[in-house]
Amino acid sequence: MPSIELRGVGRQYGDVTAVKGASLHIKDNEYVTLLGPSGCGKTTLLRMIAGLIRPTEGDILIDGVSVVDVPPEDRNIGYLFQNYALFPHMNVSENVGYGLLARGESKGHTSRVTEEMLRFVDLLEWAKFMPRQLSGGMQQRISLVRSLAAGCRTFFLDEPMSSLDPKIGIKLRYEIKKTARRLKLTVLHVTHDQADAMSVSDRIIVMKRGGIAQVGTPRDVYYSPASPYVAHFIGESNFIHATPAGENMLLAGSYLFRVSESVGSMQDIIAAIRPERIRFERRLENTLDGAITDLDFLGPTTRFWVDVGGLSLSVLTAKRPDLVKGDNVSVYLPPDDIMVFPGVRDLKDELQVF
Ligand code: ATP
Repeated sequence: MPSIELRGVGRQYGDVTAVKGASLHIKDNEYVTLLGPSGCGKTTLLRMIAGLIRPTEGDILIDGVSVVDVPPEDRNIGYLFQNYALFPHMNVSENVGYGLLARGESKGHTSRVTEEMLRFVDLLEWAKFMPRQLSGGMQQRISLVRSLAAGCRTFFLDEPMSSLDPKIGIKLRYEIKKTARRLKLTVLHVTHDQADAMSVSDRIIVMKRGGIAQVGTPRDVYYSPASPYVAHFIGESNFIHATPAGENMLLAGSYLFRVSESVGSMQDIIAAIRPERIRFERRLENTLDGAITDLDFLGPTTRFWVDVGGLSLSVLTAKRPDLVKGDNVSVYLPPDDIMVFPGVRDLKDELQVF
């Protein structure tokens, strides 16, 4: 029943802080994704839990027991890397049984466990095939059960889909998730691809500069981002500097917006709205007049760039194929869809846009 707990975990390399103050609890049988831009500390955090890097502060517990002094091979963690790491000269069942034989288990026991594992992932009829005869998804499942046969119940996936064709990637994500559910595994998946993270995770850990910016379900981090950084990193957002102009009113440039949150006492406000929440519509409030400066046809939707008095808004919709560059339009920002973040002085620094 593997659960993982981090208590104020950090790793310093001289002056470089790779990870700082990371605290979280990954529950048994949970699929959790570590998401963040390059250099934010994902790999360092993963390797500390695996035991490949020692934290310079804090504690790591697996099933309630501190493992800081436990060597990696005794932490019962399986890895899935991009290249599946199957032995090319061994067939499927030899690959799965390898760890058991290496540990000194009998041939009979090894073949029983191997058969059981292959049946688990619906690949028993492939037992005598060589890895190269299997699809990428099948190889990934074999790699998974090979670690399972060796006793692992916690799995780390480090960018397992990034080298794949997107359509194969989607199928593979689904297969890994399905297998993890069926076998009640705890999975920690590292990626910088938010589509990967959204589609498979029970919870997402969004990292920023070595720290944890937010932990939540895909819906939590999408609909209720804790900061502009998370709103920017998960999905897309338009950002507008604003000041309070009443309990539920914001002033941004010369525009007044009604918002559903109470903003009267807030300072240094950033208002944010998702491109897909903005509508081409004229209403009595929250409506801006502007012109389309550019558009990108994306297939399922079209992205319009709308200039409203010097502010450029991105609007995503499939509903207005009639609109073209140069058209005058009105855009409506629904009050419930305007997210409000106080205390942000430097938006570029907050978003890590350089
Ligand atoms: P990527 O997505 O590019 O793999 P990441 O989020 O996994 O990035 P890490 O590899 O964990 O990030 O690195 C976090 C920070 O710590 C970076 O600034 C990196 O340069 C630094 N760092 C990592 N390992 C070392 C090391 N051995 N010595 C010095 N600095 C390091």
